[in-house]
Amino acid sequence: MFLVRLLTAKPAKKPAAPLPTVTESKPEEHVSVHEVLVPIRKEEKHEQVKVISTIERARKLPFCHGFMPSLEAVNLLVRSGDFLIRLREVKGQVRVVVSVALTSAQSTKLRQINEKEDTRKGCQVAKKVPYEKEDDGDVATDLGETGDDRRKGSDSFSEIRPAPFRETIAVNYRHMKLRENKNGCSLDGEYYFSNLNSLLAFYMFVKLEGPQDFNLRNPISRQYGSFRSSQIKIVKTLGNGAFGEVSLAEINHPAFAQNKAAVKTMKKGVPEHLGLEEKFLVEGTISIPLDHPNVVRTLGWCYDSKPLQLLMELCPGGALSTFLMAKSEKASNLTLTRFCLDAARGLEYLHDVGVLHRDVAARNCLIDEHGTAKVADFGLSVKAYYYEMTTAENLPTRYLPPESLTNYSFNAESDVYAYGHLVCEVFNKCQMPYAGMSGPEARKQILAGKVVNVHERAPEALRFFVENRIFAYHAIYRPTMPQIVEFMTEVISILKEANPGDNAAFEIGAENKEAMQPSTGTEEVFERLEPSSAAQSPPVDVAA
Ligand code: ADP
Repeated sequence: MFLVRLLTAKPAKKPAAPLPTVTESKPEEHVSVHEVLVPIRKEEKHEQVKVISTIERARKLPFCHGFMPSLEAVNLLVRSGDFLIRLREVKGQVRVVVSVALTSAQSTKLRQINEKEDTRKGCQVAKKVPYEKEDDGDVATDLGETGDDRRKGSDSFSEIRPAPFRETIAVNYRHMKLRENKNGCSLDGEYYFSNLNSLLAFYMFVKLEGPQDFNLRNPISRQYGSFRSSQIKIVKTLGNGAFGEVSLAEINHPAFAQNKAAVKTMKKGVPEHLGLEEKFLVEGTISIPLDHPNVVRTLGWCYDSKPLQLLMELCPGGALSTFLMAKSEKASNLTLTRFCLDAARGLEYLHDVGVLHRDVAARNCLIDEHGTAKVADFGLSVKAYYYEMTTAENLPTRYLPPESLTNYSFNAESDVYAYGHLVCEVFNKCQMPYAGMSGPEARKQILAGKVVNVHERAPEALRFFVENRIFAYHAIYRPTMPQIVEFMTEVISILKEANPGDNAAFEIGAENKEAMQPSTGTEEVFERLEPSSAAQSPPVDVAA
């Protein structure tokens, strides 16, 4: 009977009293029972029914994705009506956001709303509406209309009548901040509810059809690769990178076999305009689907609290660069060539799935517990076969080929060129390219076609291959990654024949103290490369 009443009930319109759409436990009833049975518990019972904040309520929902950024959320919203709950920090205050996928009619209406809002704010009407625009529930005008506009059926929307809901592939998304005031909580400033659960129940089960801006149909639950902060116990710091700190952590997750992982925690206090969160997010989005024995596995995110965390497979050998600096003198040529082959295999896979790494170097390879090198650090990676820079970026310029420095273009061949430097680092105790030269000097050398030599200890054929083929000035003369893999495999079989006793084994693990030392800074290899102004002025040294 109650359900019938719930489904037929009309919610309160502003400023009517909050609507008890969903059953709220009635404190008096519980208290009276306990008064008779166990009076001593009365106090406890009062505590149990204390008002739960909207944030707490949201966090308990299986489709609350914590601080998941909108860029990531839209990947989960596939069909119109799919929705999820997120949290967002605005000026130090945490707000609940409902992200929903729209039909094309709803999307058209959203565009109209946003254009109207832009006109009010004095912007050009023709301006493209940002894809990720978030509605601000605080102020009614942020939605481009007041509650009154809606009730009257605003003139400007008269010709755009949203069709009754029909599920389609999502064509756009809407991110609505929950507004809260004395009337309760609301998504659109029109209907107010006593709590978040009532609000969601109304949009999911009552307000099903009709001309409306959005439909909450299908809640999207947390995914497999989403970790709770309570499941992660940080043990110690492993290293520091451009995006944040990497720590060793113990993981307690029912679907996660290994109990140890590396957790990258985004740097705190970085100004928003630097777009660190976006880059961090791109790193995760690109690396999570990757699956290859020579590519570090990214396990998933933890969005529960800020700063965001990215979980990766633990590589107890640490960075390849650190290993090379500490131990490469004692390592055999077979061991070192194996590292080169491992990295080449990882890059071959990346190019195969359409990922350009753009920061190939020994410092961005990690060694796992079996001594295998794996390509890591996708902070600069792009999902493309060809990529041209349009904005300024901090890049490892001394690793880049001439065409990237002059045309700002990147493709598999530019990764191949940088891989040549990785081979040089492997055989030369990880000395960085053009060591002792400043960034601009190094760039001059690259553009003049003066390449770095591979250390004499490397097999002669390998030296020739790197210096003449991989470092070819023109990209078309460089070998592809599969050709490099073939070449390195050949070198390894020759080395094995020459030294049958060498099994390329070396000590790895927690006792590998040098490798587990926090890594050193790499700021000196990064320079700001600016596509537009570069013709007039050379890139600026970041360190300067
Ligand atoms: P960033 O991308 O922010 O530059 P990195 O990915 O380079 O950070 O990581 C910095 C350091 O942390 C590495 O040099 C390495 O020492 C350590 N590290 C990173 N990932 C792992 C991992 N999966 N296992 C073990 N150590 C790691």
